[in-house]
Amino acid sequence: MTLQIDCQLCLRDNYVWLLRASSGAVAVVDPSQAEPVKAKLDALGWKLTHILNTHHHPDHTGGNLELKQWTGAIIVGPQADRDRIPGIDIALKDGETYDFGGEVARVFDVPGHTRGHIAFWFKDSDALFCGDTLFLMGCGRLFEGTPAQMWTSLGKLRRLPDATRVYCGHEYTQANARFAVTVDPDNADLRARAARVDAARARGERTVPATMGEERATNPFLRADDPALARAAKTRADDPVATFGVIRALKDRF
Ligand code: ZN
Ligand code: FE
Repeated sequence: MTLQIDCQLCLRDNYVWLLRASSGAVAVVDPSQAEPVKAKLDALGWKLTHILNTHHHPDHTGGNLELKQWTGAIIVGPQADRDRIPGIDIALKDGETYDFGGEVARVFDVPGHTRGHIAFWFKDSDALFCGDTLFLMGCGRLFEGTPAQMWTSLGKLRRLPDATRVYCGHEYTQANARFAVTVDPDNADLRARAARVDAARARGERTVPATMGEERATNPFLRADDPALARAAKTRADDPVATFGVIRALKDRF
């Protein structure tokens, strides 16, 4: 069985993903706001049953309580941060699976951006919902975690099949690409992809999702164990955590 997936842009650049299982169950991932999500669900004729949260930040959970009050939807989120997820009913941790209307997600703990952060991988649909851990050609800021934690978290996602579509929480792709070429200037795949992204944004198009295969080839934060990135970071080629830390710090100041 595969999911039908739709999208609602919220706030400035937040993507709320809407998922419909063939059983009719409907989930939204990281609803920043209730109103635009309700309007989108009504337009699609989809009846909300589940809310999936990757992490606690208000731009991912701000619509939780209103949507739950409206529909009685079940709220699912990270066990490690259950105290900070408004209205949470079901808390999940690394390695668990969650069956949402017959569609099974595998859960990964991916801390670093926040202390508790999970990603949902729907293997049969080749879809990964990763919140603010992995962005296209980028990754989340380390608000509550260390470079070592984030590198380990990204390592779990990097192992997924090439065809996996990466549904992240924000449209940050173009800015990420501008930084990526500064630390990985000889990467031809990256340059070609950056040009495609510029063209897509000039047409006003959304760039998300992309595939894990593209990410593995072009995302500097998935390539901290590549000698090219160690050269840019002036770190040892056998110390990817140090390389990752330097690149993340450079991006923070970019
Ligand atoms: Zn966040
Ligand atoms: Fe966010």
